[in-house]
Amino acid sequence: MKCYYHPDREATTRCSICGKPICDDDIAGYKNGKPVCKICAIGEALTQKESEDKQKQAKLEQIRREREQKRLKSAKKRLKIMIIVGIILFVAEVIAYIGLKKSVAESTVTPPQTSQVAPDIKQKAQLLMVFQAIQLYRFEKGKLPNNLDILIDDGYIQGPVADIIKSGEVKYITDGQDFAVMPVDNDTLIISTAPDKFSPGAKEAPGGDAQ
Ligand SMILES: [Zn+2]
Ligand SMILES: [Zn+2]
Repeated sequence: MKCYYHPDREATTRCSICGKPICDDDIAGYKNGKPVCKICAIGEALTQKESEDKQKQAKLEQIRREREQKRLKSAKKRLKIMIIVGIILFVAEVIAYIGLKKSVAESTVTPPQTSQVAPDIKQKAQLLMVFQAIQLYRFEKGKLPNNLDILIDDGYIQGPVADIIKSGEVKYITDGQDFAVMPVDNDTLIISTAPDKFSPGAKEAPGGDAQ
């Protein structure tokens, strides 16, 4: 029996894949301990590489999916914190408002007009949510946001509170260390981390609050 690749030589074995008779020089490797000819060895190598590439691809896909899940999870967590904070603040405001109403009702003094006494609960609750979102942003990013739009872009603020920011109803001032937020049309509702730095009186229009 002659070698398939060297017709002038005697074959010593057969390729275990294609079955061709081959001589010792044509044994390119072994599969399961049996000889493989040079042509079949190339095919084997290609198949091997293909399956390795596929495995690599699958691994990358897995990592990508895990990252996405992590990102989603942290976004959900943040939203949950904001909702809880919002509910707590709202309940606190309602309790404060009820307390205020009761004390006004109990007092013998003629109650002032409701519009002057009752704070705008909704406005203040929304403002507190903005304030908390800035605190959360600083906690996570290690710095204060440059403006309020960043809070919306990064998902710290959503829904109606995002709407009042977009329509420019909230003023945000900061010196890089401390900050304050207030409604543009009523800076007496100011909420700040440093009341000494950002007092509402200093920014009021002249004659606005003369006594
Ligand atoms: Zn072969
Ligand atoms: Zn040969």
